Amino acid sequence: MANWQTATILDRKVWNDGLFSLTFDIELEPFKAGQFIKVGLQVGDERIERPYSLVNSEDQPYAEILFNEIEGGPLTSRLAQLDKGEQLLATTDAHGFLVLDEVPDIPHLWMIATGTGIGPFISMLNSAQSQRFERIVIIHGATHEKSLAYRSQLEGLEHIDQRITYLPVISREKTDGQMEGRITDNLSSGEVEKRANLELNAEKSHVLLCGNIDMIRDVQALLAERDMKKHKRFEPGHISMA
Ligand SMILES: Cc1cc2nc3c(=O)[nH]c(=O)nc-3n(C[C@H](O)[C@H](O)[C@H](O)COP(=O)(O)OP(=O)(O)OC[C@H]3O[C@@H](n4cnc5c(N)ncnc54)[C@H](O)[C@@H]3O)c2cc1C
Repeated sequence: MANWQTATILDRKVWNDGLFSLTFDIELEPFKAGQFIKVGLQVGDERIERPYSLVNSEDQPYAEILFNEIEGGPLTSRLAQLDKGEQLLATTDAHGFLVLDEVPDIPHLWMIATGTGIGPFISMLNSAQSQRFERIVIIHGATHEKSLAYRSQLEGLEHIDQRITYLPVISREKTDGQMEGRITDNLSSGEVEKRANLELNAEKSHVLLCGNIDMIRDVQALLAERDMKKHKRFEPGHISMA
């Protein structure tokens, strides 16, 4: 049974039109980076509730979520209106299997996200568990550069930690030097590996996928050509997804 608490919003960040982060004070039970909680609002007799990945890491004393406002979306259209000091409902228990514990013992971790899918990866990057990888490549697909949530944090990590490579891919505008178009096209062409200076292969790599369902399907198909398959606890593979 989920344990709901009323939480006060401590911070609200607007990254781009319709793209927000909310930080709120809640006593989270111990969780693993990559897991999600439920967030809700009481509307009349009904509690509208939806799952959201935690962006904060395990040791931070608050919860942070990243979300898109969906036009007419029952919860996000309301969440988007909330400001600092206002309240929402959230569960204190987090769930989900997209966690670093489940990743086999390999040297190279590839995190591939679109949109708000970057959220759980921020949590993982700030967790002690991420130290076990020799290299971590983060590929973040967004429509516009302004929609690269947590960009400065990721660039900062890349700057101080030589193991980390951060590669944005922008689909709907020209950029000054970023990869453009679809993540899959940049993977197929070899551009991603060239920029990461690292080979993406079944021998040394594990891939985490989070975000748009089409991206997840297409990347999986592409990786299948490299003999990389979905990871299951009792049938180890190379790809895990939210
Ligand atoms: C395990 C899990 C974790 C999730 N984590 C996040 C998260 O970290 N951040 C986040 O923004 N969302 C996340 N979601 C989706 C989230 O739970 C909501 O569905 C979403 O925020 C929309 O809520 P809503 O009530 O406004 O609209 P809903 O009634 O939930 O959805 C309205 C319509 O919008 C579609 N939709 C839902 N999400 C999106 C999206 N991001 N882009 C385009 N269309 C969408 C739905 O398929 C539906 O057709 C997660 C979902 C799951 C299952």
